Amino acid sequence: MDRATICVQGGYEPKNGEPRVLPIYQSTTYKYDSAAELAKLFDLESPGHMYTRISNPTVDSVEKKVAELEGGVGAMMTSSGQAASLISVFNIASAGDNFIMMGNLYGGTTNLFLVTMKRMGIEARVVNPEMSDEEILSLFDDRTRLFFGETIANPSLAVFDFDRFVPLAHSKGVPLIIDNTFATPILCRPFEHGADIVIHSSTKYMDGHAVVVGGMIVDGGTFDWTKGGKYPELTEPDESYHGVVYTESFGKSAYITKARVQLMRDLGSTPQPIAAFLLNLGLETLSLRIRKHSENALAVAKYLETRSDVIESVSYPGLESSPEHARAMKYLDDGLSSGVVSFSMKGGREKAMKFMDSLHLASIVVHVADARTCVLNPASTTHRQLSDEMLKEAGIDPGFVRFSVGIEDVKDIISDIEGALACL
Ligand SMILES: *Cc1c(COP(=O)(O)O)cnc(C)c1O
Repeated sequence: MDRATICVQGGYEPKNGEPRVLPIYQSTTYKYDSAAELAKLFDLESPGHMYTRISNPTVDSVEKKVAELEGGVGAMMTSSGQAASLISVFNIASAGDNFIMMGNLYGGTTNLFLVTMKRMGIEARVVNPEMSDEEILSLFDDRTRLFFGETIANPSLAVFDFDRFVPLAHSKGVPLIIDNTFATPILCRPFEHGADIVIHSSTKYMDGHAVVVGGMIVDGGTFDWTKGGKYPELTEPDESYHGVVYTESFGKSAYITKARVQLMRDLGSTPQPIAAFLLNLGLETLSLRIRKHSENALAVAKYLETRSDVIESVSYPGLESSPEHARAMKYLDDGLSSGVVSFSMKGGREKAMKFMDSLHLASIVVHVADARTCVLNPASTTHRQLSDEMLKEAGIDPGFVRFSVGIEDVKDIISDIEGALACL
């Protein structure tokens, strides 16, 4: 089926007389006829739900839909994108291990990887595209467990170079985990480009209406965990599960099964059934919305390019002038690049704040990827404590504006920007 159809109908097939719309199974627990049947579930010998911390029918349907959209063998929803990032790495890395991360990841992910996971004894090593292959390969050692990147980086909007980084990771025997949040499976299917695990903050375009925080991990089912002896968590008996060996018992689904029955069981970053229900409503229109977001954003980016009188630079992969354009055309459907446009105002932080205050239709929020156009200036908000000099060191221009183009009529969005620029 086409992805537009999966968005609407995937994951839930009501039988005769059952509700047409995916029901919210608001139950923490499930009833069984005999103790023996339940015991089989606990032995992971038969499928079924035992407790909502681990799985739930509403959540399960949405996981199936996203797995189908990405082309993976299974998915697990989490309470947030942060939880998805943490579990995706922690599932195959333990204290003493390390992994490679791109330097342009979302700020929250960077913090999690460089500060919090360091306290768990797991070290993240940072690479950037300017480094040579040799320099990147020299960061790997026999404790390196994975390579982590973002399809369209938030907020630099760099497009991940799958054809360069996938062979580097695989040559060292480690999987690529890719955060596909901004592209969504409508614009990019990372498994088709060699990625092994996909994660999402479903809080962004997947929900798309700014109503529910959530995350998703999808297993491509193609990585061979048994080669090289690097993944004892998957290939050796799990003491906490009376000796199950995930690769032997679950084959292609070893990674995602372990993430659920071991880490979700222990860490408990479980989504509520209503969160899955709300996410599902968002997913139903995802394929329509992400195209509209992208078309509107390209028009906005083109307009901003004509305003070099007040705007220093515009960054949007869909622009022909963008250094990311070739990669956008290669990896994103029709070069559609999502709704986020970044630009730098001439005159720094002060002008950026004045511009934002003068907008009417676009609202100032700490969010992106909403149906409603919204805007954020990192220098005056999320990075407020930093001086202009410290900002530059962190690669953030004080006049940098992250503009998330919504699905309103694009003429109205552009005239809002035009009006605000006139106020400067
Ligand atoms: C927002 C975001 C996250 C974190 O997701 P939450 O749902 O806010 O926890 C991770 N990655 C990217 C690319 C994001 O934009």
